[in-house]
Amino acid sequence: MMGETVNILLVDDRPEGLLALEAVLDRPDYRLIKANSGSEALKHVLEDDFAVILMDVQMPEMDGFETASVIKQRERSREIPIIFITAINKDDQYVYRGYEVGAVDYIFKPFDPMVVKSKVGVFVELFRRREENKRQAAQLREIDRKERERQLAELELESLRRYQNLADAVPHMIWKSAADGIAEYFNQTWCVFTGLNVEQSLGQGWRAAFHPDDQKEFFRRWRQAMQARENFETECRFKRATDGAYRWCLVRVVPELLGSGEVAAWLGTASDIHDRKMIEQERARLLTAEHEARMRAEEAATRFSQLAAVLPQFVWEHDSAGNRTWVNNRWCEYTGQTFDKTQGRGWLSLLHHEDRAAVEACWGKALKLGRNFEHDYRIRGKDGRYRWFSAHGVPVRDGGGKVTRWVGVATDIQAFRDLDEQRANFLSLASHELKTPLTSIKATLQLQETAQKRGKALSPEQLKRILDTGVRSANRLSHLLDDLLDYSRVESGRLAIEPKQCDLVESVREAISSHQSTIEAEGRLTLSWHLPEKLEGFWDTARLRQVTDNLLSNAIKYSPERGKIEVRLFEDKDDVIFSVRDQGIGIALEDQQRIFNPFERAVETRHYGGFGIGLYVSARIVEQHNGRIEVESQKGAGSTFSVRLPKRPGKQTQVEQSA
Ligand code: ADP
Repeated sequence: MMGETVNILLVDDRPEGLLALEAVLDRPDYRLIKANSGSEALKHVLEDDFAVILMDVQMPEMDGFETASVIKQRERSREIPIIFITAINKDDQYVYRGYEVGAVDYIFKPFDPMVVKSKVGVFVELFRRREENKRQAAQLREIDRKERERQLAELELESLRRYQNLADAVPHMIWKSAADGIAEYFNQTWCVFTGLNVEQSLGQGWRAAFHPDDQKEFFRRWRQAMQARENFETECRFKRATDGAYRWCLVRVVPELLGSGEVAAWLGTASDIHDRKMIEQERARLLTAEHEARMRAEEAATRFSQLAAVLPQFVWEHDSAGNRTWVNNRWCEYTGQTFDKTQGRGWLSLLHHEDRAAVEACWGKALKLGRNFEHDYRIRGKDGRYRWFSAHGVPVRDGGGKVTRWVGVATDIQAFRDLDEQRANFLSLASHELKTPLTSIKATLQLQETAQKRGKALSPEQLKRILDTGVRSANRLSHLLDDLLDYSRVESGRLAIEPKQCDLVESVREAISSHQSTIEAEGRLTLSWHLPEKLEGFWDTARLRQVTDNLLSNAIKYSPERGKIEVRLFEDKDDVIFSVRDQGIGIALEDQQRIFNPFERAVETRHYGGFGIGLYVSARIVEQHNGRIEVESQKGAGSTFSVRLPKRPGKQTQVEQSA
């Protein structure tokens, strides 16, 4: 049986030797390679594998033994069997040497071709077996390798299946995209959430579940991450299949990097954080709302304290038991009491002793019933004087209706009280004042009636006296009523003036002559006047006549003894000055201001009748003409009232200009 072709190396320095061997070993499955020296043999051994080497022992330069020992030293050729061919030495020594250097056999010349063939055949067979063994071993190794590879592939598939199972089992949406971002895989959770199956989602299909408003930002972040080859995290909305609602998800995208640092794929996960985000947003909204509410409350508190600081009232706060916990600064300014002293019940010590018990009782009742507290009482100021205040307190309740504290104000009502008192005084004064002339008129009429009843005629003198008294009383009555009427006009704003071009001298002369008769009748006073020929201006003469009348009649009324009255009228640049000077009772300095206020008088009614209205009305008339009225006086040393008027009202008086 022919096997594969094997190499056989024939080494002999003699060509006939090589030929002889060639002839013997000529077989198609033998490839005979010839070398005619030891060194040539070594070269062949380096290049090829040989089943056997047949080598002549005796060769010039390098003999067979030397060549064999070099072949045996080399790793590659160590195993090649060498058969020496020799003719000469058959003694043992020689043969041993051959075996020492690695010979496996000897062939002695002349050789028997059969022996050569069979010996070579044995080694060829051995070589072939060895080669077969080697091939089989290689085949086995190959089978082994393939099996291992199959197992590995199986394992890989298994782990991929497990990975996918795992990916399907997690409650997050997971997907994988190629390095260029084209989606290649989606887990089960994705499909359930979005209602898109894997085929629908692949490539760019998954964008259908992505809120359009969030895509731009998401892809911007991803592009950035692609450049930097790093992961990123963002929040975006995905449409939930079950209800079509867009739900906020936290998306994380991570690159899968190769050993070289290149991106192999992108892994994405998305978890539904909608509820958490809504709670966070709600919390943020509540926080903002709370912050705003606090700001508003603080603003309100600031506004309140600013308001409390400028309010003319006392503003206070008491606890549920009625103890004072706070009061604005007005209280301390007015009472001079420190905040420490006013706290609790300290404020009660400043109440008028006549009011305190009533206030405490009223407070107690308000506290007990939780009803508003309202009371007027007097509080002592730091100057030691009491003023009337009207206090009003209300309970502040919590959500359950329980009173937690009280807040209140106390308003200074002294001016109202004074006005009330004035009104009361005025009423009694007016009734008295009006009654006096009425009684007198009644008396004159009764006198006539009695005379008539008795059939007695009154003498002309008696009649004249009675009539004079009646007329005087009627005049007095009408004068008083005029005063009252003027007052009510001033109060209701109906005292309008109608200025026109007129001569003030004329009007003053008329006033003088109308009072002259009274002065002469009484006989105790002398009247003098200094007037220019003419003094024209733009005034309401009728109203100014009221002023001159009032000043003249006051000068007469308040000069009970003998004395002089002087009337002057003169120009002072753009103004005119009209004055009345008397030598009467005069006015104390402290009263000089207030007599121009309504119902203010510096005398007692039982001595001098009057309402205290005349100067008030005169002052209003002068003011309407843009003028001023002033008094210069000393108690017991007479008074001078002077009126300064601009010639053309509308222009300010010099007094005001210089002021
Ligand atoms: P009446 O004279 O009716 O009281 P008036 O308003 O005219 O009202 O005057 C107010 C007060 O001014 C008088 O009550 C008086 O006390 C004081 N008074 C006014 N004129 C004089 C004056 N010539 N001399 C002293 N006191 C005067």
